[in-house]
Order: sequence, then C-alpha cells, then structure tokens
Amino acid sequence: FDEIKNADAEVAKAMEDELGRQRSHLELIASENLVSKGVMAAMGSHLTNKYAEGYPGKRYYGGCEYVDVVEELARERAKKLFGCTYANVQPHSGAQANMAVFFALVKPGERVMGMSLDAGGHLTHGSPVNMSGTYFDVVSYGVDENGFIDYDEVRRIALEAKPKLIVAGASAYPRKIDFKKFREIADEVGAYLMVDMAHIAGLVAGGQHMSPIPYAHVTTTTTHKTLRGPRGGLILSSEEFALEHKLNKAVFPGIQGGPLMHVIAAKAVCLKEALSPEFKVYAKNIVDNAQALAKGLTDRGFDLVSGGTDNHLMLVDLRSKNITGKEFEIALDAANITCNKNAIPNDPQKPGITSGVRIGTPAVTTRGLTTEDMDVIAECMADIASDLTGNCEKVKAKVKTLTDKYPLYE
Ligand code: PLP
Repeated sequence: FDEIKNADAEVAKAMEDELGRQRSHLELIASENLVSKGVMAAMGSHLTNKYAEGYPGKRYYGGCEYVDVVEELARERAKKLFGCTYANVQPHSGAQANMAVFFALVKPGERVMGMSLDAGGHLTHGSPVNMSGTYFDVVSYGVDENGFIDYDEVRRIALEAKPKLIVAGASAYPRKIDFKKFREIADEVGAYLMVDMAHIAGLVAGGQHMSPIPYAHVTTTTTHKTLRGPRGGLILSSEEFALEHKLNKAVFPGIQGGPLMHVIAAKAVCLKEALSPEFKVYAKNIVDNAQALAKGLTDRGFDLVSGGTDNHLMLVDLRSKNITGKEFEIALDAANITCNKNAIPNDPQKPGITSGVRIGTPAVTTRGLTTEDMDVIAECMADIASDLTGNCEKVKAKVKTLTDKYPLYE
C-alpha cells in the first residue's frame, strides 16, 4: 500500500478500507471469490503498459515477444484445463465474451433463445435492457414450478421459435444443467449452442459439473467466479466446429481493441492453479459447503428454490419469513455477512426489492471454511431473519469468530 499511498492517499485509504471489509465479512456473493496473491500480483504489474492488438505472432505493435509468451501460456492452459482445442483469452469480461459470440454467430434481428433473467439467466442472454435483447429477436425459457429447467418445455419453445442460437447457462440456477440435452435440442432445430458456464467454470474444471465442451459449439466463461482468477472472460471451442477464425475476428477487431495483457497474465496464473490437484479438492469443497449450508438453512425453516442445490449457490425464498430480499441483504450486511438480493422465479416483488437472496460458497471455501462452519452461517442467517436488527451484535460476534479463525491475505 505504501506506493499507492505515496501516489494517491485517497485511493489508498479506500483500498485499505475495502481490504478491512473483505477481512471482517463473510463473503457469500455467489459470483465472487478471493484470488491468490500470485493472481493479484500478475494483475497489478507492468504488463499493463503494453499494447498488443492482434494475437500471438500476429500483432499490430512491436515489442510483443514476451506478452506473446504470456498469452500462449494462458491459451494452452485454458485448452488443457477444459479439454478443448481453441481458447481466446482476450475478452475483458464475461459480458464481452458473450457479445463476441453473438457478433460471430448471429446477425442483428436474428432469433436467439436464452434463459430469462427472472428465472436465473444473465442480462447478456437476451434481456431487453442489454445489447443482446435490443439487437436480437429474443425468445426465453424459464424454470418449472419446482424451480428446475424443463427440457421438454425448452424443446417445445425451440421447435416453435426456431432460433439460430440457443444459450444455456445461468447466474442464479442452483441445479446441474444437462448440456447434452441442450445440444440435442439445438441440433433438432439447426441452432448453434452456446454455453455460458461463467458461474460453474471452477466446478467444471474441478470435475464437479458436466463439461459443456463436448456439446457446445462455443463455451464462454468469466475467470473470476468459481474459477478464482482475475476479472475477465474466456471463449472456448473445438476444431470440429471450425469457428476459430470467426471467434477471433469477433473479439478483435470486432468488439475490442488492445487486450489487457496484465489481466491475461493473471488468467494464466489462475489457470495454472486450476490445473493443480488441490483445485479439484477446492471444487469438491465448494459443493460440499453449499450442500451443508443448504441443509443448515432448510433445517431452520428457510425455503430454497428447487429445494436445495447441486452446485455452488442457492436461492433463498424469503416469502414465508415475511421479509424481502432487500431487507435481508441490508440486515445481513450490518452483521458482516455479504450476499445479494435476488429475484426468485415469478417473483411478486420489483427487481430492486425481490423476495429472495442468492448465496454461494466459492469465497468462504477459498478462505478455508468447512461444512461445520456452514452450519454456523445458517444459524447466523436464521438469527437475523427472526429479528432483522435485534440480533445484529450477537451475529457479528459469531462472524468474527469465523473471520478470525480463517484470516485473509496475511
Ligand atoms: N455470464 C454469466 C452467467 C454471469 O453470471 C455473468 C456475471 O455475473 C456474466 C456472464 C458477465 O460477466 P462480467 O460481469 O464479467 O461481464
């Protein structure tokens, strides 16, 4: 921090405060994680100085010989980790990875099918407020009354709508997704299948979720969720689909300029970590912790959408507790537990209020918390739900016991 302090005391102060917050809070936001010091150091490095438009060996700038090495390492590791033959490591974010695939595979006005936002899909899968829903003709699928994807219904909609591109993947879906079934549907209607595995990439890498690679024509992901890398995106595909050229062109010069070489270096470090045997253990622990937390919550009378979880996250339906997602998020935050309000399927509340919260275990698992600790978290959440403000200090003390036991970035 000293160098930042010397350069800019105000930014340094806010950064120090944020570190304090991360240390003292239990991070249950399902899309967040805590990266290694190696990932962080690569990101905060002199590689930010380099322009490298183009791809390794074919750049529009001189002096790229070393950043070429970095980008090659990232690409090779991504291919090895996910078992595919094509990787583009340049997308600045998950949203841009998705935008690039749309740009490569469909034309404005053509029909695209994705999971609706209120059922758990992502904004970039066709929401009217996103580019995907503005430039393309979107049809959506959702979940059934039990909170599961109904593949017969997806097929029915696809047969009727005949989309050019089907998007599978979600931001708030607590169950496994059957990519094979999605591909069968895509083949039946002659559509491309794009899987956005942003949330579950670390689980796929660690063998805890079916891989989309054999089924999807293109797979996109973020690198900063369960995969535990820097903020950024990846696009993966395989030779048999012959999309490499189109996808490369869509990222650069299609929708981006110069790649962020410092972030690509951090992606390479993260991918090396994800290739280690320890990462498989980490992925299993994420799922074990999510199941323990889900059990702790249901034992204490919370309703979970779909009744539980198969992955790293769960959606808590708060209607039976007579509190809104917004109220619960604020009350938990006051007690040093961070999560986000989230709509449940067919939510009667407005998106800014919601009837649910989404919680996930990737970050607390990185910190070292175990299944026993998950029961303590469930108890904390039940204490807050029973009295939004009255139990704050009591819960804060329990949280402190956990955050002291598992220190962060010492
Ligand atoms: N795809 C999915 C499924 C996501 O959940 C998210 C982010 O939450 C994104 C894409 C977008 O990623 P980013 O925030 O890096 O643009």
